[in-house]
Amino acid sequence: MKTYISLLICGLCCLLGSTTTQGQNYQNINDSLQQMLSTTIIGKDRVDLLNEISYNFRRTSPENVLHFAKKAESIAHKINYQKGLCIAYKNMGIAYYKLGKPINLTSNYYQLAISIAEEIGDYYTQAACNNNIALLYNQSLDYNTALKYYLKGIEIFDQHFEEGNRLKALMLANVSSCFFQLKDNDRALAYGERANSIARKYDLQSILSMYLDDLAQVYTEINEFEKSEQLLQEARVLQKRFGDHQSYLQTVKTLVDLRLKMEDLKDSKFLINDAINLAKANEFNPLIPGLYNVLGKVFFFENQYDSTLYYCNKAYESAVASEDMPDQKNALEILSSTYHKKGQYQKAYELFYSYHVIQDSMQNAQKFAETSRLESAYQNRVNNQKIEFLQQEKAIQKSRISLLWVLCFVALSFLLLIFYFFYKNKKSNKIIQQKNKELEKYISSNMQLENFAYIASHDLKTPLRTIVSFTQLLRRKMKHNLGEAESDYLNHIITGAKEMTVLIEDLLSYAMIEKKKLRLEQFEVEPLIKVLLSEIDLYIKEQQAHIFLNIQVENMVGDSILIKHVLQNLLTNAIKFTQDGQTPKVWISAYEQKGKWLFQVRDNGIGIDKEFHEKIFLIFKRLNNKLDYDGSGIGLAICKKVIDLHQGAIWLDSEKGKGSTFSFTIPMVKIAAAPQDKEQLSKAFA
Ligand code: ADP
Repeated sequence: MKTYISLLICGLCCLLGSTTTQGQNYQNINDSLQQMLSTTIIGKDRVDLLNEISYNFRRTSPENVLHFAKKAESIAHKINYQKGLCIAYKNMGIAYYKLGKPINLTSNYYQLAISIAEEIGDYYTQAACNNNIALLYNQSLDYNTALKYYLKGIEIFDQHFEEGNRLKALMLANVSSCFFQLKDNDRALAYGERANSIARKYDLQSILSMYLDDLAQVYTEINEFEKSEQLLQEARVLQKRFGDHQSYLQTVKTLVDLRLKMEDLKDSKFLINDAINLAKANEFNPLIPGLYNVLGKVFFFENQYDSTLYYCNKAYESAVASEDMPDQKNALEILSSTYHKKGQYQKAYELFYSYHVIQDSMQNAQKFAETSRLESAYQNRVNNQKIEFLQQEKAIQKSRISLLWVLCFVALSFLLLIFYFFYKNKKSNKIIQQKNKELEKYISSNMQLENFAYIASHDLKTPLRTIVSFTQLLRRKMKHNLGEAESDYLNHIITGAKEMTVLIEDLLSYAMIEKKKLRLEQFEVEPLIKVLLSEIDLYIKEQQAHIFLNIQVENMVGDSILIKHVLQNLLTNAIKFTQDGQTPKVWISAYEQKGKWLFQVRDNGIGIDKEFHEKIFLIFKRLNNKLDYDGSGIGLAICKKVIDLHQGAIWLDSEKGKGSTFSFTIPMVKIAAAPQDKEQLSKAFA
């Protein structure tokens, strides 16, 4: 948007440049810019636009400069647009300067602009505002303070900008003027020449036209009249070219003053008369008394005293009208000298007296100005301290607010965390309660099932036995009358009934294992295993199995019959589930691990897929075809029940085709008392 506005301004300048004056240009540009204000431009763009309009009014209407700058300031403030705020303050400074407000007020706005420009790194505005403050002091004849600000501005330029800058050349020229006013001709010349050389090198002709006059005065002061004359002539040409009549008139005055000093008046009278006409035509009234005075001096130099009196009286009258004290004083001085020359001493004395009165009042005014300058400097310092204090307060407030935010954030996160944990806890409590209920249900149904299994299996055994006995009797009696098929049927009945008997017995022993019936005792492990091996020796031999023992447990406490049962189940399974064509090999080991007795039965059999490692311990869970491997699917369920009752754990490590390792642990219980103390043993497993 900024570029758009700039382009628009450039465009409008080009459009209007050829036919109208610069003042009119600004007026037209501003009309167009103000029309843009009625559109929907908002935010930073609106601030930029308002600042642009404000600045364009600087030559024509300080009231408008102030009006638009204030609008820009208020928006920039609201949206925290620092750059916009900085320019608005600078424009307000310009407005107050043009409106003739006290230095204090004006320089305060420039100072505000400088402090923001420093924050955002806008060096040009920093330098420009320093220059503007310096101008204020320069105009109130406080050259020392003015110098301070000019030099600060120049320093900024030296650090951040290229040499060929218009504002820098202008500031150097102003520094030179200040030193000239302070009668420090050496430095006035040094800075003046710096400005001069930059202006020439970069062809800054408008600067030259404004400043050569001042530089010439320095050369006049050090008696280099020719150089001075040369500069003044050059200045006149440039001022004519730029139409800068005011500077031209000043230059003519300086030139004639120089000629008076050189005692070579040449075309001085003509130049001065021409200048007076020009001043009258352009209504440059404040310059007229000075020009009359110079003309009077020329006539005085030529001893034409009447003409001197005529022009110096005119000078005095117009100086009184325009309250121009220095020219009143100059006129009175020349008039007094003229009357003195004419021998009218009384008149000369009166005028000389008036001359002194004015000089005194000028000195008083100067003293008053100096006092108020000191006063305003003091006020400035107080204000600056106040601003600094407020800025510090603001910074502290800011850091307090950020701390408060952090604390709020931490407190909120803490609350959220508590809420989260509370919620999670409530949820998990609910889940636990639900699981407990399920467990209770499961336990009670399991107990009912076990009772039922016990009763059913016990009662079923008798009729089954009857079936087997009578079928065997029938087969024996009818041996010769039965055909092959009938005999086969009877065999099937007997086999089925026998299988059913095994199933019922297994079921019965499963149902009969109850905690209250654990017969705990201390027993020796290796002998127990040896007894087991001898009991199933026939089966081992039948299957040609190899059994390897590694028993590192001597005594242990538990129900030896049930533990033997577990080992038997695991061992027979290990032999039973052999891979086709392989000799079954089983490794039985028992040792201490982490305070428990660890038993392991490893085989080289068919192995079990990982997905069945848990399910395998459920009752009736079988993985193989009954024709390949017989069994009831109750053995491992019994093992788990026994180990659970002993507060131990049972698990399986296996992979299909790579053998299986069944492991179980029994807690190590050391009993000092007699192993027969059943109560103590029961407590140990509680
Ligand atoms: P079963 O009377 O069928 O042997 P179990 O409860 O002892 O009943 O075993 C359940 C199932 O676990 C078996 O049918 C078999 O599929 C599998 N199984 C048990 N031990 C082994 C083993 N050592 N190797 C391979 N599979 C086994």
